[in-house]
Amino acid sequence: MYDKKSLKAEEFINHEEVLRTLDYAEKNKNNLELINEILEKARPTHVGRETFCKGLTHEEASVLLACEDKGILQKIYDLAQEIKESFYGQRIVIFAPLYLSNYCVNGCVYCPYHNQNHHIPRKKLTQEEVKAEVIALQDMGHKRLAIESGEDPVNNPIEYILECINTIYSIKHKNGAIRRVNVNIAATTVENYRKLKEAGIGTYILFQETYHKESYEKLHPTGPKHNYAYHTEAMDRAMEGGIDDVGLGVLFGLERYKYEFAALLMHAEHLEAVHGVGPHTISVPRVKKADDIDPNAFDNGIDDETFAKIVALTRIAVPYTGIIISTRETQTVREKLLQLGVSQVSGASRTSVGGYTEEERPVETEQFDVSDQRTLDEVVRWLMERGHIPSFCTACYREGRTGDRFMSLCKTGQIQNCCQPNALITLKEFLMDYASEETKKIGEEFIKKELDKIQGVNEAVYKALTNNLKEIENGKRDFRF
Ligand code: SAM
Repeated sequence: MYDKKSLKAEEFINHEEVLRTLDYAEKNKNNLELINEILEKARPTHVGRETFCKGLTHEEASVLLACEDKGILQKIYDLAQEIKESFYGQRIVIFAPLYLSNYCVNGCVYCPYHNQNHHIPRKKLTQEEVKAEVIALQDMGHKRLAIESGEDPVNNPIEYILECINTIYSIKHKNGAIRRVNVNIAATTVENYRKLKEAGIGTYILFQETYHKESYEKLHPTGPKHNYAYHTEAMDRAMEGGIDDVGLGVLFGLERYKYEFAALLMHAEHLEAVHGVGPHTISVPRVKKADDIDPNAFDNGIDDETFAKIVALTRIAVPYTGIIISTRETQTVREKLLQLGVSQVSGASRTSVGGYTEEERPVETEQFDVSDQRTLDEVVRWLMERGHIPSFCTACYREGRTGDRFMSLCKTGQIQNCCQPNALITLKEFLMDYASEETKKIGEEFIKKELDKIQGVNEAVYKALTNNLKEIENGKRDFRF
């Protein structure tokens, strides 16, 4: 039976409830009166300088997803953009993945690290190698990482992951520093989540891959990841272990997207109902070509239009949750999705173990083919040229504004007063320390324009920010609001 407050996977992601939702959505996909009511409910309301959004239930959002009316689709896109601008402004947070180890005991059929792949070289970074990778990442200008690892209790036990986190935080090279380490490792125990929290991680990210239990079990035929309930209930254990920023995700292409979308929102509703805080981020990866993986072998691939609609509806349904788009996607696709609600992008990613210290992008241990292969400098410039503020900010997490504290900041629209200036501060650091001459020139003009927008609207922020930017020019670093 469906119960969003249950701690049992099959009750909070209840198969019958997903099917009922899809049936309801199909029956109402041309009910324009209902559809317009749903869109109206999702619209932001402004009270003084504060902005509020109600979001949508999985049922409401599924009706919008089922609707094929072109006019409604445009309304969905417009609303997604309006919500994005209300809560996130033009900021886009930038991060990079760091692959620690591709040893893996699981049999995930879409991933080249599966344990039946006997020809892929297996590699695990030593602490010296972690250090070299981090220095290479710092030298590009990165401040936020997402560490990635296969699941292997012998080669990559939790102690190894903790040691790597420790090493990453300890490296201060020139003006560089990694200020936030997010972690994408396999589902684990409450005790291990507690250890990760104590090690100072940012978000714990775990993709569900698919919410459809029967497909899940076929796609993960062997290894600990085969256990659907253990995997699906991981976020509850993470929260029990004290991690209050968790990141959900579906690997699109494995199952029918309408099923995944409804279930993903049910997962978000479950976290909110049980823990009082929804997911910090949602990732939307699509299956990509990799070593022995052919994405065409999966029946449920989605085209770019459907993908854009999913992103826009995610923005509308969970307005306070960040949306992450990786370099699995091309520059063109990323460009479109930035308008529709994406708030975080990876840049200059290498998805191989030890890839950042190589001159050429190595492919032999890559987890997936990288579509957007531009440098970080190019990504930063591209964002600014399209009016986005590239942000390397990590302030909220370092100020203890995580979980519901971050959410309440976001919900009251206060994010504009902190995040906007913080984004400009970290952009200025990037320009001073890492940017090419051309990017620096564009960036300085860009910051000036943004400052002009703040002047007169918020004099206190303007003054403090102007001061901080001057101090950065004088060699100081790491200011934050
Ligand atoms: N081993 C951990 C786990 O089981 O969750 C860490 C995850 S793995 C390093 C990161 C993610 O990459 C996976 O959760 C999966 O969704 C995604 N992935 C795996 N193979 C992929 C492929 N061929 N194309 C795109 N994404 C892929």
